[in-house]
Amino acid sequence: MTPRSNIVVMKFGGTSVEDAVAIERTISIVDGRRQRGLAPVVIVSAMSKVTDALLASSAAAHAGRGDREPALELSSRLRVRHIETAARLVSDSDGRLTALHKAIDEHFDSLDELLRGIAAVGELTARTSDLIVSFGERLSSLIIAAAFVEKGIAATHVDARSIIRTDGHHGKAAPQERAIEHTLLTHVLPIIEEGIVPVMGGFIGSSESGETTTLGRGGSDYTAALVGGGLHAGAIEIWTDVNGIMTTDPRIVPEALRVKTISFEEAAELAYFGAKVLHPATILPAVQKNIPVLVLNSRNPENEGTRITAIAPPCSSPFKCIAAKKKLTIIDIVASRMLLAHGFLKMVFDVFDRHQCAIDMVSTSEVSISVTVDSRESLPAICEDLSKIADVKYESAKALICLVGEDIRGHSGIAAQVFSAVSHVNIRMISQGASEINMSFMINEEDVDEAVRSLHKKFFVAPDPAIFDVETVATNA
Ligand code: ASP
Ligand code: MG
Repeated sequence: MTPRSNIVVMKFGGTSVEDAVAIERTISIVDGRRQRGLAPVVIVSAMSKVTDALLASSAAAHAGRGDREPALELSSRLRVRHIETAARLVSDSDGRLTALHKAIDEHFDSLDELLRGIAAVGELTARTSDLIVSFGERLSSLIIAAAFVEKGIAATHVDARSIIRTDGHHGKAAPQERAIEHTLLTHVLPIIEEGIVPVMGGFIGSSESGETTTLGRGGSDYTAALVGGGLHAGAIEIWTDVNGIMTTDPRIVPEALRVKTISFEEAAELAYFGAKVLHPATILPAVQKNIPVLVLNSRNPENEGTRITAIAPPCSSPFKCIAAKKKLTIIDIVASRMLLAHGFLKMVFDVFDRHQCAIDMVSTSEVSISVTVDSRESLPAICEDLSKIADVKYESAKALICLVGEDIRGHSGIAAQVFSAVSHVNIRMISQGASEINMSFMINEEDVDEAVRSLHKKFFVAPDPAIFDVETVATNA
């Protein structure tokens, strides 16, 4: 199949569509791409905080406890926000606003009906939770599509659930790429070819039996990559509210620099830490098809952001980024019989597998294995299972510091430089992955800021100007 290089998939996160002003900015960014002869496909998140409001902490949770009134109260506040945003964006010439308001009201009427039903039974399942949370993206995409038309841009709303086919794993469904590619080619491509901008919600999909599913929190990036991959687009743009990927969190290090270009491999290592900027799974459907992903700032659209490409240009600095992930737990598993028992590692990993718990880091000796995990709900159950085969201890409030860069390959003495920079910090576990592009170690949570500052100072004294934006340091602060 020939790449459709003029197609650009543009994904706008919650803050880029948080209100009428943000949505207008988003529309003018998309229009700018059209003026350049590109064919945009727009993927939007729910308006900011709507997903949270609909989810566990809120509407669905209240209803699940049988608290009907607070659930309905939340829903009515969301209704007002969406109705008002629509009114700011769309006029009533030709009855367009009336039609949009009617559609919004119908969505909220069925949401309310759903919440009443859940409250009546007092039970919230993963399936109904998906259905409830899907309203966020269904509503934002509906309003934004209408706002495009209002501005005289040919656009049409596409229900993402008719495109993004998934399995039936509610809460974090797995997309079926073949089926998605097919629906994209039959339903979305013809729209693009007519010069119309398809506008669809991210995050949501549907299972083979037609039930609404979601791709997991932050899943709109994933949608963008799936759509970009399926259409063989020329580029995927992830529009957010930061100037792309930074060398580290600017709240910890004000001198953090924008990384102008980073490889897929580096971004994938990093994605795990920087879920705020990019969802890890975003990378995959795009990498496989060699489609560049750009992370851009909708509040500062002139900024070049970060370009994620298959192969990174050489960089004179060993690392591109320093990331930290808190709230981790180290589990120490000690089996005195390990020397004899082959298959012990398998037994241990099987336990994690059964609990569907991802392991971040592993280190082993003859008689012990230490692993780190970040899912805390299943921890007691995991440890109980492990204790059947070994002695188990765990310590929480740990943090993983990770330095990522392709240019550490073949560099000798990097580890010594890293550890001398943090010689004053107590290091609990060390790992250098087989990928050879990341060095990670575990420390106590309270040491994170200090460690990150020391490392940044050490490795970004003379940053390579081809890779890092050395000119705009001041504005990052
Ligand atoms: N709205 C969803 C969330 O907040 C998906 C997304 O924005 O990517 O997780
Ligand atoms: Mg996001």
